[in-house]
Amino acid sequence: MALIVKKFGGSSVATPDKISSIVQRVIREKKEGDQIVIVVSAMGDTTDELVTLANKITSKPYGREMDMLLATGEQISIALMAMAFEEAGEKAISFTGGQAGIMTSAAFNKGRILDLQPARIFKALQEGNIVIVAGFQGQTSRGDITTLGRGGSDTTAVAIAGAIHADVCEIFTDVDGIYTSDPRVVPAAQKMESITYGEMLEMAKLGAGVMQPRAVEMGSRFNVPIHVRSTFSEEPGTMIQEDYAMKVKQYLIRGVAQDKNVAKITVLGIPNRPGFAYQVFAELAEKNVDVDMIVQSVRIAKEGVTDITFTIARTELPAAREVLAHIQKELSVEDILVDESMAKVSLVGAGMAGHPGIAAGMFGIFSDHHINIEIISTSEISISCLIAEESMEKAVQAIHAHFFKEN
Ligand code: ADP
Ligand code: ASP
Ligand code: MG
Repeated sequence: MALIVKKFGGSSVATPDKISSIVQRVIREKKEGDQIVIVVSAMGDTTDELVTLANKITSKPYGREMDMLLATGEQISIALMAMAFEEAGEKAISFTGGQAGIMTSAAFNKGRILDLQPARIFKALQEGNIVIVAGFQGQTSRGDITTLGRGGSDTTAVAIAGAIHADVCEIFTDVDGIYTSDPRVVPAAQKMESITYGEMLEMAKLGAGVMQPRAVEMGSRFNVPIHVRSTFSEEPGTMIQEDYAMKVKQYLIRGVAQDKNVAKITVLGIPNRPGFAYQVFAELAEKNVDVDMIVQSVRIAKEGVTDITFTIARTELPAAREVLAHIQKELSVEDILVDESMAKVSLVGAGMAGHPGIAAGMFGIFSDHHINIEIISTSEISISCLIAEESMEKAVQAIHAHFFKEN
């Protein structure tokens, strides 16, 4: 007897037939006494289509209304899946995020789960239901619908697994586990048996879209074992867990990640005095825009002014542009340049600290391929380089081949 959370991503529930075959599989694998909570994403590319629909009306960021729109995708899937279970003779009930007790901050489009009261989930399970919860959504204390950021159904699933103390959270997707790099970009990527929360969190933050970073964070906080596996095969996938037996440090390099959702912004000729950088970043924070890499350069030729270059997610440009227009007016900077053709390539591994040759090895690959590095940033377990998006795939493949000794 086990308490299991199973999450199915968009491609897994893309058609009614796929929903029905998931239902058959769940019923087949369910053991006597098992209690099952299923979290589902919107069908196929529904969320992208809803974004496109909104863009036909406006290019401005309407947070609340956007969430009202985006949350509808997951509601279609939960209702259909509950009907499919009933058709197959199994009791089931669907819940929206709010009905499942998921309370979030009021940061529309990137709500954070603040509380999860699973009373209704428990009651429905005790009544013999398979419980189906809409991923990616929650509700504020005022009752407004929020969404959790793209890929947020992963976070819904892990948060529920943590709150109900599930034995495992299974993330069913279109790959059969976590690989050393995105297998769609690097065909030679290798599947991992397991990975620690820390390394997976770094991979996810740096662009490995197979898991939303917050889901991994949540898994680590509540110690939820996460099993990433294929919807279309029964083979075991990859466990994300704290595994001391894994001897984490033996892996110098764990993976290569890439991220195209990057925009580079340069504020030229900003007064080189205390308070100016603060004003730029405080205004961005006010609009909930996350800043990633930051470089401030010193201009020798023209004293008194400096240039600041930073990166944000490309999807946050509409909100950032409002701030930049205001800054250009208020701070009388020389110019503001926005470049939407950059990408970030990163090398991740808990064992890389204290191995100076690794950065050099990575930069050597860029040099060999005549790829210019615009910004470099590091953490204890990663090195990231900002390069032109057009060179991204070639760079990821070459870095993977070098560090994973492909033949
Ligand atoms: P879902 O709709 O099931 O949530 P996603 O598209 O969000 O699926 O995530 C699965 C995809 O993540 C895979 O198809 C793969 O291309 C991509 N991916 C990126 N990096 C990795 C990696 N390191 N290992 C496995 N998959 C990865
Ligand atoms: N449907 C949402 C998205 O496409 C959430 C998810 O799939 O995890 O981002
Ligand atoms: Mg996903």
